[in-house]
Amino acid sequence: MEERWEKPTAYAVMKPSRKTAVRVFYNQQEAEELAAKTDGAYVQVRPGEAIRCARYCAVAKFCDQYQRELAARRSVVTELEEAQAA
Ligand code: SF4
Repeated sequence: MEERWEKPTAYAVMKPSRKTAVRVFYNQQEAEELAAKTDGAYVQVRPGEAIRCARYCAVAKFCDQYQRELAARRSVVTELEEAQAA
């Protein structure tokens, strides 16, 4: 299905002292560069999603395409969390 109302994955540069992001990028490298230059900052991944699949499709839990995308998005978050913990 072509029209799935895609929202891209975002990378928010966060500081513990703020509730809102310092800045939000759609490019992980740019977010990591700003976080490295900003005292105490870290990158929070905000996984994107296909809005139509996630909220309006009755067969989403049986759809291979959507389930593969969910797994890929989860692995991006996990990889970044592991990298930050190291
Ligand atoms: S979950 Fe699968 S079938 Fe449903 S809208 Fe998304 S791509 Fe199409």
